[in-house]
Amino acid sequence: MSINVAIDGPAGAGKSTISKSAAKELGFIYVDTGALYRAVGLNAMRTGADIGDPESIKESLNGISVDLKYENGEQAVLLNGENVSSLIRTPEASMAASAVSAVPAVREFLFGLQQDIAKRNDCIMDGRDIGTVVLPHAQVKIFLTASPEERAQRRYKELIEKGEAVEYENVLAEMKQRDYNDSHRAVAPLKPAEDSVIVDTTGISLEESVEKILSVIKEKL
Ligand code: C5P
Repeated sequence: MSINVAIDGPAGAGKSTISKSAAKELGFIYVDTGALYRAVGLNAMRTGADIGDPESIKESLNGISVDLKYENGEQAVLLNGENVSSLIRTPEASMAASAVSAVPAVREFLFGLQQDIAKRNDCIMDGRDIGTVVLPHAQVKIFLTASPEERAQRRYKELIEKGEAVEYENVLAEMKQRDYNDSHRAVAPLKPAEDSVIVDTTGISLEESVEKILSVIKEKL
Protein backbone atom coordinates (compact mmCIF):
# COMPACT_ATOMS: atom_id res chain seq x y z
CA MET A 1 0.00 0.00 0.00
CA SER A 2 1.27 3.46 -0.82
CA ILE A 3 1.96 6.06 1.85
CA ASN A 4 -0.17 9.17 1.56
CA VAL A 5 0.39 12.45 3.34
CA ALA A 6 -2.43 15.00 3.01
CA ILE A 7 -1.57 18.67 3.49
CA ASP A 8 -4.41 21.17 3.40
CA GLY A 9 -4.62 24.84 4.20
CA PRO A 10 -5.38 28.30 2.86
CA ALA A 11 -3.65 29.98 -0.09
CA GLY A 12 -0.12 31.17 0.64
CA ALA A 13 0.44 29.08 3.77
CA GLY A 14 3.55 27.68 2.08
CA LYS A 15 1.96 24.33 1.26
CA SER A 16 3.61 23.85 -2.12
CA THR A 17 7.14 24.93 -1.18
CA ILE A 18 7.10 23.03 2.09
CA SER A 19 5.45 19.92 0.61
CA LYS A 20 7.88 19.88 -2.30
CA SER A 21 10.92 19.97 0.02
CA ALA A 22 9.49 17.39 2.40
CA ALA A 23 8.55 15.06 -0.50
CA LYS A 24 12.07 15.29 -1.90
CA GLU A 25 13.52 14.43 1.49
CA LEU A 26 11.24 11.39 1.79
CA GLY A 27 11.56 10.27 -1.84
CA PHE A 28 7.80 10.74 -2.39
CA ILE A 29 6.17 12.52 -5.29
CA TYR A 30 4.58 15.88 -4.59
CA VAL A 31 1.08 16.35 -5.95
CA ASP A 32 -0.14 19.95 -6.19
CA THR A 33 -3.91 19.60 -6.63
CA GLY A 34 -4.39 23.37 -6.88
CA ALA A 35 -2.76 23.11 -10.32
CA LEU A 36 -5.66 20.90 -11.46
CA TYR A 37 -8.26 23.50 -10.43
CA ARG A 38 -6.15 26.19 -12.02
CA ALA A 39 -6.05 24.24 -15.30
CA VAL A 40 -9.83 23.89 -15.23
CA GLY A 41 -10.04 27.64 -14.47
CA LEU A 42 -7.74 28.46 -17.38
CA ASN A 43 -9.86 26.27 -19.64
CA ALA A 44 -13.00 28.11 -18.50
CA MET A 45 -11.36 31.46 -19.34
CA ARG A 46 -10.17 30.20 -22.71
CA THR A 47 -13.54 28.82 -23.71
CA GLY A 48 -15.23 32.09 -22.72
CA ALA A 49 -17.25 30.50 -19.91
CA ASP A 50 -19.07 32.82 -17.51
CA ILE A 51 -17.03 32.39 -14.31
CA GLY A 52 -20.00 33.55 -12.22
CA ASP A 53 -22.30 30.88 -13.65
CA PRO A 54 -21.87 27.27 -12.41
CA GLU A 55 -23.83 25.91 -15.39
CA SER A 56 -21.50 27.67 -17.82
CA ILE A 57 -18.44 26.32 -15.94
CA LYS A 58 -19.91 22.83 -16.05
CA GLU A 59 -20.35 23.13 -19.82
CA SER A 60 -16.71 24.17 -20.19
CA LEU A 61 -15.75 20.67 -18.99
CA ASN A 62 -17.07 19.11 -22.19
CA GLY A 63 -14.27 17.31 -23.98
CA ILE A 64 -11.57 18.69 -21.63
CA SER A 65 -8.65 16.53 -20.52
CA VAL A 66 -6.47 17.35 -17.50
CA ASP A 67 -3.53 15.26 -16.44
CA LEU A 68 -0.35 15.40 -14.36
CA LYS A 69 3.05 14.35 -15.56
CA TYR A 70 6.27 13.91 -13.55
CA GLU A 71 9.72 14.56 -14.88
CA ASN A 72 12.69 14.42 -12.48
CA GLY A 73 10.20 14.70 -9.65
CA GLU A 74 8.75 17.96 -11.04
CA GLN A 75 5.03 18.08 -11.65
CA ALA A 76 3.67 19.44 -14.91
CA VAL A 77 -0.04 19.95 -15.52
CA LEU A 78 -1.41 19.19 -18.94
CA LEU A 79 -4.57 20.79 -20.29
CA ASN A 80 -5.72 18.97 -23.42
CA GLY A 81 -2.14 17.72 -23.80
CA GLU A 82 -0.59 21.21 -23.50
CA ASN A 83 1.81 21.91 -20.63
CA VAL A 84 0.15 24.92 -18.92
CA SER A 85 2.25 24.84 -15.72
CA SER A 86 3.34 28.48 -15.94
CA LEU A 87 0.18 29.85 -17.57
CA ILE A 88 -1.89 28.87 -14.52
CA ARG A 89 0.10 31.05 -12.10
CA THR A 90 -1.42 34.45 -12.86
CA PRO A 91 -3.79 36.25 -10.42
CA GLU A 92 -6.59 35.82 -13.01
CA ALA A 93 -6.05 32.06 -13.09
CA SER A 94 -6.09 32.03 -9.25
CA MET A 95 -9.48 33.69 -9.15
CA ALA A 96 -10.80 31.45 -11.95
CA ALA A 97 -9.54 28.39 -10.04
CA SER A 98 -11.31 29.54 -6.89
CA ALA A 99 -14.56 30.08 -8.88
CA VAL A 100 -14.53 26.74 -10.72
CA SER A 101 -13.55 24.83 -7.57
CA ALA A 102 -16.93 25.67 -6.00
CA VAL A 103 -18.75 23.80 -8.79
CA PRO A 104 -19.53 20.19 -7.78
CA ALA A 105 -19.11 18.88 -11.36
CA VAL A 106 -15.52 20.21 -11.37
CA ARG A 107 -14.68 18.52 -8.07
CA GLU A 108 -16.18 15.25 -9.28
CA PHE A 109 -14.23 15.53 -12.51
CA LEU A 110 -10.89 15.85 -10.64
CA PHE A 111 -11.66 13.44 -7.81
CA GLY A 112 -10.72 10.16 -9.54
CA LEU A 113 -7.47 11.49 -10.97
CA GLN A 114 -6.25 12.55 -7.51
CA GLN A 115 -7.23 9.26 -5.88
CA ASP A 116 -5.62 7.28 -8.65
CA ILE A 117 -2.26 9.07 -8.28
CA ALA A 118 -2.33 8.55 -4.50
CA LYS A 119 -3.11 4.87 -4.90
CA ARG A 120 -0.15 4.31 -7.22
CA ASN A 121 2.49 6.49 -5.50
CA ASP A 122 3.91 7.36 -2.10
CA CYS A 123 3.02 11.02 -2.14
CA ILE A 124 2.50 14.27 -0.35
CA MET A 125 -0.67 15.72 -1.81
CA ASP A 126 -1.64 19.29 -1.04
CA GLY A 127 -4.91 21.12 -1.52
CA ARG A 128 -7.99 22.19 0.42
CA ASP A 129 -9.96 18.96 0.88
CA ILE A 130 -7.32 16.22 0.66
CA GLY A 131 -7.57 15.04 4.28
CA THR A 132 -11.33 15.57 4.46
CA VAL A 133 -12.59 14.32 1.08
CA VAL A 134 -10.02 13.03 -1.42
CA LEU A 135 -7.84 10.90 0.88
CA PRO A 136 -9.83 10.40 4.08
CA HIS A 137 -7.61 7.39 4.89
CA ALA A 138 -4.28 9.17 4.42
CA GLN A 139 -1.78 7.96 7.04
CA VAL A 140 -0.79 11.55 7.86
CA LYS A 141 -2.94 14.69 7.70
CA ILE A 142 -1.57 18.16 8.24
CA PHE A 143 -3.39 21.50 8.19
CA LEU A 144 -0.88 24.18 7.35
CA THR A 145 -1.75 27.78 8.05
CA ALA A 146 -0.35 31.30 8.67
CA SER A 147 -1.83 34.77 9.20
CA PRO A 148 -3.50 36.35 6.09
CA GLU A 149 -0.99 39.24 6.16
CA GLU A 150 2.00 36.92 6.17
CA ARG A 151 0.50 34.75 3.44
CA ALA A 152 -0.23 37.82 1.29
CA GLN A 153 3.30 39.10 1.87
CA ARG A 154 4.79 35.80 0.66
CA ARG A 155 2.53 35.61 -2.40
CA TYR A 156 3.29 39.29 -3.19
CA LYS A 157 7.03 38.61 -3.12
CA GLU A 158 6.62 35.58 -5.34
CA LEU A 159 4.63 37.53 -7.95
CA ILE A 160 7.02 40.50 -7.91
CA GLU A 161 9.97 38.14 -8.41
CA LYS A 162 8.16 36.75 -11.44
CA GLY A 163 7.86 40.26 -12.83
CA GLU A 164 4.10 40.60 -12.30
CA ALA A 165 2.96 44.18 -11.63
CA VAL A 166 0.92 43.80 -8.43
CA GLU A 167 0.13 45.83 -5.30
CA TYR A 168 0.39 44.27 -1.83
CA GLU A 169 -3.05 45.60 -0.85
CA ASN A 170 -4.63 43.86 -3.86
CA VAL A 171 -2.84 40.60 -3.14
CA LEU A 172 -4.08 40.75 0.47
CA ALA A 173 -7.64 41.52 -0.62
CA GLU A 174 -7.61 38.66 -3.14
CA MET A 175 -6.15 36.33 -0.53
CA LYS A 176 -8.95 37.19 1.90
CA GLN A 177 -11.55 36.81 -0.84
CA ARG A 178 -10.19 33.37 -1.77
CA ASP A 179 -10.04 32.31 1.90
CA TYR A 180 -13.68 33.31 2.21
CA ASN A 181 -14.73 31.54 -1.00
CA ASP A 182 -12.79 28.40 -0.15
CA SER A 183 -14.07 28.07 3.40
CA HIS A 184 -17.69 29.05 2.76
CA ARG A 185 -18.52 26.99 -0.31
CA ALA A 186 -21.12 24.25 0.02
CA VAL A 187 -18.95 21.45 -1.40
CA ALA A 188 -15.67 20.39 0.20
CA PRO A 189 -15.08 23.66 2.13
CA LEU A 190 -11.60 24.34 3.43
CA LYS A 191 -11.43 23.08 7.02
CA PRO A 192 -9.00 20.95 9.05
CA ALA A 193 -9.80 17.22 9.08
CA GLU A 194 -10.66 16.09 12.61
CA ASP A 195 -7.58 13.89 12.73
CA SER A 196 -5.19 16.48 11.29
CA VAL A 197 -2.21 18.07 12.99
CA ILE A 198 -2.38 21.88 12.73
CA VAL A 199 0.91 23.59 11.88
CA ASP A 200 1.05 27.41 11.94
CA THR A 201 3.99 28.82 9.97
CA THR A 202 3.53 32.51 10.92
CA GLY A 203 6.96 33.92 11.73
CA ILE A 204 8.70 30.61 11.01
CA SER A 205 11.30 30.19 8.28
CA LEU A 206 10.83 27.81 5.39
CA GLU A 207 13.52 25.45 6.68
CA GLU A 208 11.96 25.33 10.13
CA SER A 209 8.53 24.67 8.61
CA VAL A 210 9.89 21.77 6.55
CA GLU A 211 11.55 20.34 9.68
CA LYS A 212 8.27 20.62 11.57
CA ILE A 213 6.34 18.86 8.81
CA LEU A 214 8.94 16.11 8.51
CA SER A 215 8.87 15.48 12.25
CA VAL A 216 5.05 15.21 12.21
CA ILE A 217 5.24 12.76 9.29
CA LYS A 218 7.99 10.65 10.82
CA GLU A 219 6.19 10.50 14.14
CA LYS A 220 2.94 9.34 12.48
CA LEU A 221 4.61 6.76 10.30
O1 C5P B 1 -3.47 25.87 -4.03
P1 C5P B 1 -3.80 26.89 -5.10
O2 C5P B 1 -3.78 28.28 -4.62
O3 C5P B 1 -3.01 26.69 -6.34
O4 C5P B 1 -5.32 26.54 -5.49
C1 C5P B 1 -6.05 27.35 -6.38
C2 C5P B 1 -7.54 27.26 -6.02
O5 C5P B 1 -8.01 25.92 -6.29
C3 C5P B 1 -7.87 27.50 -4.54
O6 C5P B 1 -8.17 28.83 -4.25
C4 C5P B 1 -9.06 26.62 -4.30
O7 C5P B 1 -10.23 27.34 -4.59
C5 C5P B 1 -8.95 25.53 -5.32
N1 C5P B 1 -8.56 24.24 -4.76
C6 C5P B 1 -9.53 23.43 -4.23
N2 C5P B 1 -9.25 22.19 -3.77
C7 C5P B 1 -7.99 21.74 -3.81
C8 C5P B 1 -6.94 22.56 -4.33
C9 C5P B 1 -7.26 23.81 -4.78
O8 C5P B 1 -10.69 23.83 -4.18
N3 C5P B 1 -7.74 20.50 -3.38
